[in-house]
Amino acid sequence: LRSACAVPATRPSGGREIPAVLGADLEVPVKGGRLVPYANLDYAASAPCLEPVSAAVAAALPAYSSVHRGAGYASQLTTARYERARHTVRAFVGARPGDAVIFTRNTTDATNLLARAVPEGTTVVVFDTEHHASLLPWADAVRLAPPAFPGEAVRAVDDALTGIDGPALLVVTAASNVTGELWPIAALAHIAHRHGARILVDAAQLVPHRRLNLTALDLDYVVFSGHKLYAPFGSGALVGRADWLAEAEPYLRGGGAVKAVGDADGEAAGIEWYDDPEARHEAGTPNVLGAVALAAACDALTATGWTALVREEERLLARLRAGLDGIEGVHQLSLWDHDHPRVGIVSFVVEGFTAREIAERLSGEYGIGVRDGKFCAHPFVRYLLGSKDGGCDDVTASAVRASIGIGTTDEHVDRLITALKDLTSRG
Ligand code: PLP
Repeated sequence: LRSACAVPATRPSGGREIPAVLGADLEVPVKGGRLVPYANLDYAASAPCLEPVSAAVAAALPAYSSVHRGAGYASQLTTARYERARHTVRAFVGARPGDAVIFTRNTTDATNLLARAVPEGTTVVVFDTEHHASLLPWADAVRLAPPAFPGEAVRAVDDALTGIDGPALLVVTAASNVTGELWPIAALAHIAHRHGARILVDAAQLVPHRRLNLTALDLDYVVFSGHKLYAPFGSGALVGRADWLAEAEPYLRGGGAVKAVGDADGEAAGIEWYDDPEARHEAGTPNVLGAVALAAACDALTATGWTALVREEERLLARLRAGLDGIEGVHQLSLWDHDHPRVGIVSFVVEGFTAREIAERLSGEYGIGVRDGKFCAHPFVRYLLGSKDGGCDDVTASAVRASIGIGTTDEHVDRLITALKDLTSRG
């Protein structure tokens, strides 16, 4: 692989500058040994790093030390950077005053943290359309079938929560990682609250594409990952109500989460954990550079403006979907209406080919990166494909996913469409 070092120029969009992504000039080998520019259509897996994110990490690298416990300059500077990052993430998702903002490794980690913090006996309700990160952390969840239309999702939650005693939590994705479809999270929050339940929104695929405001939508918790939001790997966040988190066992037991540790017995025995949920659940040296990167990505998207970002994404998505619609034998997957609003993610199957064949040929012959498989959402993909089996090796229960974001160009989209036309006509 060859990549020139220069950062590509930004593209103007409606008067606003959309920041550049690193690796936009990457060239990859295809059949015959030729190098072609890489067409990255796999943003839903991990989005490339934004140039301002890379710059923020580079600026933080020369002087760092562990946070919260050093009087030295580097430690104080790093603590300030880390807490500023927390503040940025808080503002980015529109958290309420008093909400906890806990840095995690990713969405999966954040959801598992909350799963350990819910009070004993909490009823958890989750749709079978979820990513495994939302489906699996719960010991014993009520699983709801994929709803036939958005209003049915609300009705199914209403039914599931009726008559439930004690704490309850609805877990739902804001934007599907399989179809990109947007879920009615405000209506779902409303119905959950009517039953005295809380709602956790998996925003991993929403926040790279749309503004999220936890306060305005009245959500109790949101989780997301930095690596899907144009920051490198290893950072994520759980944001939401502090009370359950303040009372739960610390997620990790160790330094940083504890106020005082006594002797094994005698007068000074015992362990006193911090009540503050951020300290309590962030034991060990945190991923400060990850937090800095995550916050820089939040800042970069906010500074660009959602209007410009969404306009450009919708233009590209319409081009992609119209192109796919025009190819015989290509079928896009949707839970709801073909025209239901969605973020820049499209999954499809191609008659006569396995998803793996398509993905490998797109890569090996055209330099296009897409994803194939079940996208860590086995029950949902099986449902969409009407497949009864669908174990990991079942190629008939797999799809191809193309996903777009900042850095996607018309040429990338057009190359995919041309390649699919070519492959389906050649066989
Ligand atoms: N939720 C959704 C909707 C996702 O798309 C993903 C990743 O693909 C996750 C959760 C898990 O994210 P991570 O692997 O960063 O923990």
